[in-house]
Amino acid sequence: MILAFIEHEDGAVSAGTLQMLACARLLSAETGVPLHAAVIGAHAKLPAGQGISHVYRFDHPSLNEYAPAAWARCVSGIVQQRMPAILMAAATERGNELMAWCGAMTGMPLAVNCLRVSPGQPFQVLRQRYGGSLLEEANLSGATKLLTTALHVFEAGEAGAADPSVETIPAPAAEKDLRARVVAREQTHSSGVNLHTARVVVGGGRGVGSAEGFRVLEEFAGEINGAVGGSRVATNNGWRPHAVQVGLTGNRIAPDLYIACGISGAIQHQVGCKGAKRILVINKDREAPFFRRADFGVVGDLHEILPAVTAEIRKRKSSG
Ligand SMILES: Cc1cc2nc3c(=O)[nH]c(=O)nc-3n(C[C@H](O)[C@H](O)[C@H](O)COP(=O)(O)OP(=O)(O)OC[C@H]3O[C@@H](n4cnc5c(N)ncnc54)[C@H](O)[C@@H]3O)c2cc1C
Repeated sequence: MILAFIEHEDGAVSAGTLQMLACARLLSAETGVPLHAAVIGAHAKLPAGQGISHVYRFDHPSLNEYAPAAWARCVSGIVQQRMPAILMAAATERGNELMAWCGAMTGMPLAVNCLRVSPGQPFQVLRQRYGGSLLEEANLSGATKLLTTALHVFEAGEAGAADPSVETIPAPAAEKDLRARVVAREQTHSSGVNLHTARVVVGGGRGVGSAEGFRVLEEFAGEINGAVGGSRVATNNGWRPHAVQVGLTGNRIAPDLYIACGISGAIQHQVGCKGAKRILVINKDREAPFFRRADFGVVGDLHEILPAVTAEIRKRKSSG
């Protein structure tokens, strides 16, 4: 079997997992090996219409919230007992973390951020390294091949309406595996859009100047149903919460349009928005490196440009 780890986000199967399952189905078709899945926690939904024939559900109150070692213990248990040909997850922060634990627990090598998987002899992968600035071709060894699929590479889809069979495994987590676990959640987004669902993301950097300065970005984003993100300078200065940082050490986003305001375009920032379909840069320095990566550019002061655009949008909306 090919075993896929199913990750959830806001009570639904995550977008990255659906993309990973598209890759898993291709591998299943190519190798003739059935696709199975592992879900953890009582609230986890079973992935329907994804071509999965069998689900291992780990069900115990101690596993309901994310606990990397405890969850990896569950998944590693299946690897050790049933020896899947491939164990795969989405290359989200959690997916990569959980798979690293699985690698340590099973002693098998792991390839993260894979763009292409060729399940021959040798088993080959093409994967992103250094935030996507290097592509590496590698051979993956190990009785079970452990890998994660890069985000926004495989297109999510549907296959097979039949419900999978479900095997419930009542697995209490050992105390030592629960040292790191989610104990509380804070709601950070009040509106329905966030960095990962918004079609337009408006990012602000040092050029915004202050936490108050972000008001012009929020007002503009509010008019176009966009989400507001920030560079590391903006989050380090406390102008925006870390949860909305875009970049290597923040979020990887893939909106239709990313509008970067007062952001110079350091490589560590660009890594976070390289999935955007289009990039518009607003910067008062025409030599800012971000312009070289931009589809559209405006040279000027964001504090003049954004309020003017917001006012124009409002004017047009009110005149119907
Ligand atoms: C290991 C590592 C990880 C990192 N991870 C991240 C990450 O995840 N995300 C991230 O963003 N950075 C990250 N960084 C930091 C990164 O290298 C840059 O320092 C950072 O992105 C710069 O932020 P900035 O563009 O807001 O600021 P600056 O580079 O200072 O650029 C500010 C820009 O604003 C323009 N500007 C100023 N005033 C205005 C105005 N009124 N109107 C219009 N434009 C104006 C300026 O011309 C300038 O181009 C990381 C660095 C390291 C070493």
